[in-house]
Amino acid sequence: MKQIIEVLWHRLTGIMPGELNQPEPAWLAWSREHTPLLARRRAMLIINRVRLFAFLFALLTPLWSVVDFLVFPLPLWLRLAVMRFAVSAGLIALLVRYPPSGRLPNAYRALALLFFIPTVFYLSSDILLTTYRLTGFPGAIGAGYAFLPFVLVAGLSIFPLTITESLAIAIPIALAHGITGYLHWSSANWSFAATLWLLLLITGVSLLAGISQLAFMIALVRQANRDPLTGVIARKTGEEMLELQFSIASRGNTPLAVAFIDLDHFKSINDSFGHDAGDQVLMGMTEIVGANLRAGDTLARWGGEEFLVIMPNTDLPQAEAALGRLRGIGFGVRPDHSRITASIGVAERMVDGSTDWKALVELADQRMYRAKQGGRDRVVSA
Ligand code: GH3
Ligand code: MG
Ligand code: MG
Repeated sequence: MKQIIEVLWHRLTGIMPGELNQPEPAWLAWSREHTPLLARRRAMLIINRVRLFAFLFALLTPLWSVVDFLVFPLPLWLRLAVMRFAVSAGLIALLVRYPPSGRLPNAYRALALLFFIPTVFYLSSDILLTTYRLTGFPGAIGAGYAFLPFVLVAGLSIFPLTITESLAIAIPIALAHGITGYLHWSSANWSFAATLWLLLLITGVSLLAGISQLAFMIALVRQANRDPLTGVIARKTGEEMLELQFSIASRGNTPLAVAFIDLDHFKSINDSFGHDAGDQVLMGMTEIVGANLRAGDTLARWGGEEFLVIMPNTDLPQAEAALGRLRGIGFGVRPDHSRITASIGVAERMVDGSTDWKALVELADQRMYRAKQGGRDRVVSA
């Protein structure tokens, strides 16, 4: 049974076994535990797609007034035209209010508005249309208004959303459909049941499309963020994390320490034992350091045998203590079993009065050089 469910799951979502590691499968259900980087990438993608759709709808919604004008009685056309221009104005306001950004709360608001505005239009146009008893061709055009909820839940499929997020949008749309079904109850109860079923089916497909996009995004963000040799965070991602941590620390007025670690005489390992031996040492070093950092700390490979440790919420004495501990544990051994040492420079946002993350890294780098000049195998701080 479990196997059948798994096969079905892989077929339906396109997510292959092993593509997501623990705890990532749970990230498809809710976004609470998403990493800040994933949240940011996702927010950017969501906002950009919201904007694309808002732009298209803002353009096309008033254009349809031409068709309405040709088939509907003038008073009905006029009211619908006013509604259509209101929708367009709402969507243009959305475009202005939500420029591209990486903030998830903004993405949520923009997304909610993108679906809320047409849903209100759907409800009000439906109420308006029922007061006119349209038949024939105008009746057919009028019936077209009832398709909007289907368009909306189908549109949901282009967003990399969690199950909870998709449902949070789909349920109000289904409710709006339910309200119009209730209003037409005497005339159309069977067709209502059929269309509700169709709406649920499309919602299911959109839900799957959303989580399969999300799964690919999770895997891609994870892979793109890692250094292929050592598996630690890659420099570009490290810079992004540092930028994020720096702004969080500045806003909250909390400390943020960084340590620049450069292995001592690393080139001689390559020269005496070969490049592969050098690679092994780098892998061993990142494993040891990674295992001995606090949960909130990040180890990033900055270049060849140079690493950066990002320590949020860590003041200078705490950072010095942590690095002293790391030096005590050591950075591994050479193939000839001699100890590998490192020269380390430390900088801390508050003590050093740094104004941005680049200045902080620059300071740590300079101090690492001073550690080299001072004889290597040491930590230099303010
Ligand atoms: P110092 O104590 O002054 O830091 O001396 P060092 O030999 O560690 O420093 P140097 O900058 O002269 O040499 C760094 C070496 O790291 C040179 C380069 O070939 C090697 N290296 C860089 N990336 C890799 C890698 O991915 N694998 C291996 N095996 N070696 C690498
Ligand atoms: Mg170096
Ligand atoms: Mg070195």
